Amino acid sequence: MGKPSSNLASAADASVALASGFKGLTAKLDYLSESEVAQVRQAYRFADEAHLGQLRSSGDPYITHPIAVASQCAEWKLDAQALMAALLHDAMEDCGVTKVELIEHFGSPVAELVDGLTKLDKLSFNTREENQAESFRKMLLAMARDVRVILIKLADRTHNMRTMGDMPRAKWGRIAQETLDIYSPIAHRLGLNQTYRELQDLSFRHLLPWRYGVLSKAVEKARSRRRDLLKKVKTELEATFAAHGMPVRIAGREKSLYSIYRKMHDKHLSFAQVTDVYGFRVLVPETTDCYTALGLLHQLYKPVPGRFKDHIAIAKVNGYQSLHTTLVGPAGINVEFQMRTESMHLVAESGVAAHWLYKVNANQEHANDRLGTQWLQSLLDIQDETRDAAEFWENVKVDLFPDAVYVFTPKTQIMALPRGATVVDFAYAIHSNVGDRTMAARINGEQVPLRTELKNGDVVEVVTAPSATPNPAWLSFVRTGRARSKIRHHLKTMQLTESEELGHKLLAQALRAEGIESFPDAVAHATTWDKLLRFTGSKNRQELLTDIGLGKRIANIVAKRLVLLLGDAGQRPDALLLTRERFGPGNGHGMGSIALDGSENASVKFALCCRPIPGDPILGYLGRGEGLVVHTAQCPVAARLQYKDGERFMGVEWSDEPTRAFEVDLAITVSNGKGVMAKVAAALAAAEADIVHIDMVADSAQDVKELHFVVAVRDRAHLDAVLAKLQRSPVVTRAQRSKKAG
Ligand code: MN
Repeated sequence: MGKPSSNLASAADASVALASGFKGLTAKLDYLSESEVAQVRQAYRFADEAHLGQLRSSGDPYITHPIAVASQCAEWKLDAQALMAALLHDAMEDCGVTKVELIEHFGSPVAELVDGLTKLDKLSFNTREENQAESFRKMLLAMARDVRVILIKLADRTHNMRTMGDMPRAKWGRIAQETLDIYSPIAHRLGLNQTYRELQDLSFRHLLPWRYGVLSKAVEKARSRRRDLLKKVKTELEATFAAHGMPVRIAGREKSLYSIYRKMHDKHLSFAQVTDVYGFRVLVPETTDCYTALGLLHQLYKPVPGRFKDHIAIAKVNGYQSLHTTLVGPAGINVEFQMRTESMHLVAESGVAAHWLYKVNANQEHANDRLGTQWLQSLLDIQDETRDAAEFWENVKVDLFPDAVYVFTPKTQIMALPRGATVVDFAYAIHSNVGDRTMAARINGEQVPLRTELKNGDVVEVVTAPSATPNPAWLSFVRTGRARSKIRHHLKTMQLTESEELGHKLLAQALRAEGIESFPDAVAHATTWDKLLRFTGSKNRQELLTDIGLGKRIANIVAKRLVLLLGDAGQRPDALLLTRERFGPGNGHGMGSIALDGSENASVKFALCCRPIPGDPILGYLGRGEGLVVHTAQCPVAARLQYKDGERFMGVEWSDEPTRAFEVDLAITVSNGKGVMAKVAAALAAAEADIVHIDMVADSAQDVKELHFVVAVRDRAHLDAVLAKLQRSPVVTRAQRSKKAG
């Protein structure tokens, strides 16, 4: 919106129109200092030049639009920076003026405002879902780091709506709907009621021109019918207040056409039911006068029970304050009244903008009037402490909406997440299946790390893979409780499944050691399993196997019981197998050994004290609750455990085909010199060993130093090749697998 047409204006015509337009604006700037007015004029000249030759749809020079926007801002008594930004608001987008240029000419606060407005312009809202509109509104508010950006944007939208008749009809629907869905509710939320009503009526008029026409004629007719009656009420009111010496300002109050339409439409009411209600507003000097005025009115006309509302004691969230009552007026018609002070009126009509309006008026008559509500009071407190609009806005924002960040899915759905949320939080917010399978992500089309924090307006795209699983490291940066609990849940289930598989393996091996070759089937041996479960006190087979895998139960004890039960059921152990398993070579542990290939993940741990690799003789220790821990046969830690806790050891062996590399500690002594580390790293790379970790023992006194590496190797043979390669390097004096003292 606001794109200029490309026709060239006659330069002479244009300059005449411009001069008068800007003069109209300067007439409203009497609240600014002379130097501020000069700055505004400078911004006007710059904008005028930038937009030269561009025309509005009406045929007017384009500059008339920024002037109109600035005039609206001047009515709100916004500061000079805001007025300058209003004049320049389309310069970046439409004229190719850069932010750097704006900073050079007008300073960075003004440039930031213009930049903020340009960014808002780039967002377009095109979904009809109600909750999406709400999110979009919040996103707009959150993105505008300065409330002045929102106010200028509202002034911009108001002028575009006022001049919509000049635009092609085809554009009316979309723009009017957007105004109704997004901008008028924002105006309402910020308490700018006058703008709110105007935007609604203008949208209604362009969205449903025919209904608007019919309704406005009907309202006009109804008003003229009641004109005498309303005049009578007003006269009686004036006389009453005059008799009590109370200076008041009385105004008739008219409903907006759109609110009449909505009421009829939503509540299925007739035109007469909606419009046969008349309203007056009584403006009084002091807060206590509101209550006095109420008393006087109740003496004049009979109140309608249940219609009195005290919005002074309890203000509405947007800062609105007034007393409301409904009375039965002449000829029995209901008349609504609102009592408020001038400053309450200011807030009621202008909301957030009252911050600036109040600043201007504060030196005048209502300086001592208390604005009462916490919200406004806090605004005023802030104003006392700082004149910084950004800080003011931060404080207002806290009251307006929670600490949230709003982002788009690739399908332009809007998602609200807590501030600080990351890509992973976003993935889990979409669906736990998406979160669990997240592999990579793009923000605004660029690949980003999964821990990246989201910013308002980001378009976030999650790349999933069926084989991907949650990483425990995610827990360190996710922000939402949902993501955290889903990740924990998944990791736990993953570990339990693995433990169950290991338990199955362990029990099968223990059974072989007892002479049972085939693992008893859950269905065929249902009775036996039931008895076993009763013996162990486990809930089910799965739990028993998991417990064995986690080391909470010892497999050969369970196996012995199972063998007894199988014997009861008539299945005898195979004596040959039993002999082979128990007394066969290399098997002194009372049960068969299980083969490890490195794919066991969480249920099997390779001890960090000795870091076993394929080819090493190994022992398995079934730790309590931690699953199987594998040590090398020479490990001193394992030796101590074996002495203390021997029955928890079991035979393990390497599978013939390990599925991954294993980490091993290396101690490398090198001559001290430049580039030594690089040479060692190069030697390791040449031997195809990945470096996992490096530790240096700093000893500058010596001419040599020792480096500690953790590298990943396939097996013993690979390790030997790595060590040989290192030995051949000229900088290495010694390289060996290090044995940490247990
Ligand atoms: Mn504009």
